Amino acid sequence: MSSEALKINRQRLHQRLQALGQCGALAGGGVSRLALTDADKQGRDLVVGWIRELGLAVEIDQLGNVLGRRAGLETGPAVMTGSHIDTVSTGGLYDGNLGVLAGLEVIQTLNEAGVKTRKPLAVAFFTNEEGARFAPDMMGSCVFTGVLDLETALQTQGIDGARVGDELERIGYRGEAPVNRAREQAAAFIELHVEQGPVLEQDGIRIGAVEGVQGISWTEFSIKGTSNHAGTTPMAYRQDAALAAAEITVFVRQLAQRLGGRQLATVGHCEYRPNLVNVIPNHVELTVDLRNTDEQQLQQAEAELFEFVRAVAEREGVSISHRSLARFEPVNFDPALVARIEQIALDQGNSVKRLPSGAGHDAQMFAPVCPTAMIFVPSAGGISHNVREHTDLDDLEAGANVLLQALLELAEPA
Ligand SMILES: [Zn+2]
Repeated sequence: MSSEALKINRQRLHQRLQALGQCGALAGGGVSRLALTDADKQGRDLVVGWIRELGLAVEIDQLGNVLGRRAGLETGPAVMTGSHIDTVSTGGLYDGNLGVLAGLEVIQTLNEAGVKTRKPLAVAFFTNEEGARFAPDMMGSCVFTGVLDLETALQTQGIDGARVGDELERIGYRGEAPVNRAREQAAAFIELHVEQGPVLEQDGIRIGAVEGVQGISWTEFSIKGTSNHAGTTPMAYRQDAALAAAEITVFVRQLAQRLGGRQLATVGHCEYRPNLVNVIPNHVELTVDLRNTDEQQLQQAEAELFEFVRAVAEREGVSISHRSLARFEPVNFDPALVARIEQIALDQGNSVKRLPSGAGHDAQMFAPVCPTAMIFVPSAGGISHNVREHTDLDDLEAGANVLLQALLELAEPA
């Protein structure tokens, strides 16, 4: 059978997505499967059972990352795919799960067609991608790739007080395989994921060839002015923390518009003290979230923001201090692999668009290790991290078929 004719079984993919969605299912739809809870264990057991049914060698590492390997004619690093099966507490059926179950579907399709490959293939799911119970997010892939050390991850305490290491032990997923071996294990990495944004649907596009993940800069500003009577303090005598906060809010919107391109800017948190109708606020805490796919532009946005903050503090007679809450550089995926995914999608009759990922994903941790890329399929209404998350079966199927062809080419059909 020629490998070009191979197609995944959409019904089987759909059934597995539904079955996994039953683990931690919420009444009325959606799923709550926070990392390392009983529901996560139930989901893990189900997926590991499927991996074994496919005849793959199962490897569970010391952080509970699970890898199913299909042998190639040659030994050595595997062409990898995968994602995560943990969800937020009001999650949908597709975020993460699609990437793992489409990987299994690819393997099953190859098994049934009797296709052998030179390089091994592997499907992985990584512990605690969401970060909803334990910070940081992408914990499993960070440890798998050596960005985060195992001991730190194991000691991490969750929002409910439980520790990662204890919870892994409790649900039986503290494995033996060593971590930080991505360089020996991965020849390439492709992750299929739902877009979780509105772009593909609004443009009427079926497949996104993801070029990278945008960089993130989170800063918290603490603005100190002077509280005083709103009726007796003339305008010229005020040190108004709220005014400075409002100016920063307007400035970042204008900054993003002026820089254009892929610059995003958001003030998502703003708290006034004392927060009373007739008192000039003496303290405001606000956050600025800057994102860009280009590190130079992101640095420029930060520099302009800090310059403006300094100027506004001086002009308004307030003091403003700041601290960084998060800073990630943008990640660029492998240009040749992105181009190949784009071409495969076109050849299979899909509309395609290149786009950056607005959210973080496990795949980004592999970008420094091996050729890496992602495939997006549309999210209905751009909605994710929500029980109403939905992707049409036609789109799921198309994404999985692009994944199949891309993995097969990388693994070299024998
Ligand atoms: Zn995800």
